[in-house]
Amino acid sequence: MADTSVIEISRKAVKGNIEFLREQLGENVLITSVVKSNAYGHGMDAYVPLAEEAGIEHFSVFSACEARGLMKIKKPKTRIMIMGWLDDMDIEWAVTNEVEFFVFDVRRLEKVISIYNNTRKPGLIHIEMETGMNRTGMNRQEIRKAADMILKNRKAFVLKGLCTHLAGAESIANHVRIQKQISRFVRLCKWFGERGLLPEFRHVASSAAALTYPSARFDMVRMGILQYGYWPSAETFIQYIGRRKEKSDPLTRVISWKSRVMSIKKVKRGEFVNYGTIFLAQEDKNIAVIPVGYSHGYNRSLSNQGRVLINGHRVGVIGLVNMNMLIADVTQLPGVKAGDEVVLIGSQGDLTISVASFSEFSNQLNYELLTRLPESIPRQIVS
Ligand SMILES: *Cc1c(COP(=O)(O)O)cnc(C)c1O
Repeated sequence: MADTSVIEISRKAVKGNIEFLREQLGENVLITSVVKSNAYGHGMDAYVPLAEEAGIEHFSVFSACEARGLMKIKKPKTRIMIMGWLDDMDIEWAVTNEVEFFVFDVRRLEKVISIYNNTRKPGLIHIEMETGMNRTGMNRQEIRKAADMILKNRKAFVLKGLCTHLAGAESIANHVRIQKQISRFVRLCKWFGERGLLPEFRHVASSAAALTYPSARFDMVRMGILQYGYWPSAETFIQYIGRRKEKSDPLTRVISWKSRVMSIKKVKRGEFVNYGTIFLAQEDKNIAVIPVGYSHGYNRSLSNQGRVLINGHRVGVIGLVNMNMLIADVTQLPGVKAGDEVVLIGSQGDLTISVASFSEFSNQLNYELLTRLPESIPRQIVS
């Protein structure tokens, strides 16, 4: 292994997760697979073909830059939707390449009209409406203006979608806020309908709402974290299994992260290990140095806290996590030698290190930990 660690992506897990989600949502709800932030750290190049194999035909990204990357690897018929950033040049690129995009201000509509006047190509737009999240999304006044512009320039637009984003469907504490957003969304769709503006897709839900609020599914859900095998929150999982006889987790984690022992050393009782004084050997120790550190996405707050798997055992990270290295206590594992596999995330034998267990120590969300895994770590597809 030339690289200090490798991220394995499981084909079987992707297939199983997408099958499970499709079964939950039924035939009439399209899943757009959200692959922003390098497919939540899984690697867009590795993940997208596997999702396509599992039947996904529509992907969502945050930026035009991500859309360009996706364009190079997707199947010809697969569609792309940009949910966030495009500048004026990007809008022209998107229109020309039939990439769908969110519109949350009338400026983007003006740009589409001028592109249409030059090229006769319509913009494939999703109107994002404010319903209570207060991030992006058009308010009433802008919506009225947008509808007028679309009606006056009917040929310049294909109304792909009407959409909004919910402010935290993964927590029951937000229930009232979410219900309000859903009913506002329904009213706004009706308002568009009365003007003859019927979208191909109405969409509101990300992972949490797609499972927890069936009324938020409409025609399409924007599926992120669940497809990678993670629950948006413990609450979402508890809610889901609360309604089932079968109490086991139906999802499988797609990612494993593995490295190797770089060297082994003995440390005498009474010595400090690594920088500073945060770890004092209370007994004679055997330590294993592992060539992964915070620059590789292994959070520094896991110093003296993290756990890794070596030779089928769970062992602790001791001392500070360095830029390129961390140290594990292998005193109880006399057979460990340089080159032995180290699992940072994933399974070895019967044991598993989950991203969630990590997150509990470091206060990091699953989302944050995954998306911080550097692009430079090689992704390897395993069955
Ligand atoms: C990231 C994102 C999603 C997916 O969220 P998950 O919780 O990962 O399912 C959906 N919609 C929008 C607008 C997003 O930005």
